Amino acid sequence: MGLFGRVIVGMMPFTPRFIINWVAKRYVAGPDLDSAIRLMSVMSAEDACFTVDVLGEEIATLDESQFFIDEYSRLIDAIADSGLDANLSIKPTAFGLLIDDSVAHANIERLLHKAARHDIFVRLDMEDHRVTKGTIDVALAMHEKGLTNIGVVLQGRLFRTSSDISEISEATGTATDFRICKGIYLEPSDIAHSDYRAIVDATNKAIDLMLDSGAYTAIASHDTPVIEHSLSALESRGMGPGKADPRHETEVTRSADKGPGYEFQFLLGVRGDVRRRLAGEGHITRVYVPYGTKWYEYSMRRLRENPEVASHVAKALLMPWTNRR
Ligand code: FAD
Repeated sequence: MGLFGRVIVGMMPFTPRFIINWVAKRYVAGPDLDSAIRLMSVMSAEDACFTVDVLGEEIATLDESQFFIDEYSRLIDAIADSGLDANLSIKPTAFGLLIDDSVAHANIERLLHKAARHDIFVRLDMEDHRVTKGTIDVALAMHEKGLTNIGVVLQGRLFRTSSDISEISEATGTATDFRICKGIYLEPSDIAHSDYRAIVDATNKAIDLMLDSGAYTAIASHDTPVIEHSLSALESRGMGPGKADPRHETEVTRSADKGPGYEFQFLLGVRGDVRRRLAGEGHITRVYVPYGTKWYEYSMRRLRENPEVASHVAKALLMPWTNRR
């Protein structure tokens, strides 16, 4: 991180909440479910579909998981009632994974059953390395129980990702559904890349492996070298807008809102211009929409985990006209 970024991070705890709130507005739909539904209804006009995140993560007591169970359950009902093209992103630690994994499995299973009744897919966001294996185990356990509307995120920066791709796709076959991203958590150097170029290369390699494994591949990056690589990797495999997925002889049944074997994903508020261009070319583009009251904690934690976000925050403050979705 440069000096500028360090200064911004150092100033954040002393920055008035209303300023953080103003910046967070770009990245967060609002404090409640209604604000998320309103925002998605407007953005649907841009051909976007969505994955919705209820803000909040690692809980301290199992009782706290009830809030997430109830809120996600309301969210499923609201998506079903509104007819929006949206699925869910959940954080396993919010369901108790770091406290009692059997309780977390049971909580997630209940949610999955409800989502499945409405043909809604559930993505397990990937948190830091303490829960990489535990998160993958949740998805594998649910698939074993016949609940296939669930998939994990893998992080390009982690050394283990190539072997995770082969193990998961072997276990879950044509139902395998990945999101691939670089990974936001700054992990120790014995388990992860830290150099920008190495992270891009590893992420692009993971995208190739996912596509070659036959898995549904959700590409979650705003970075031009990753997006450009993905476009040519798709083209060289005969994949693209409106084309049937050529990797499977018989059509694979997936949740209703899925693309032809792949999609692109963007965070709310980040590089909307690129997303609109891809959508205009016919690619399925999904926006990650967080909502909830924990926006302050969310913004501050993201910043501590990856101070490079500070430069985006600074840009939003100094050049507010760029602060658009
Ligand atoms: P970068 O090089 O960081 O960004 C490329 C360009 O995008 C920047 O130059 C800038 O123009 C723009 N940009 C990027 N971030 C911002 C920002 N915050 N504000 C303004 N402009 C910005 N990580 C996980 O560890 N686990 C997850 O489950 C996870 N889920 C994700 C889901 C989605 C849909 C997306 C898009 C990302 C997710 N991530 C997750 C985060 C991801 O790992 C990266 O940390 C993040 O996307 C930044 O990497 P990048 O590939 O976009 O490239």
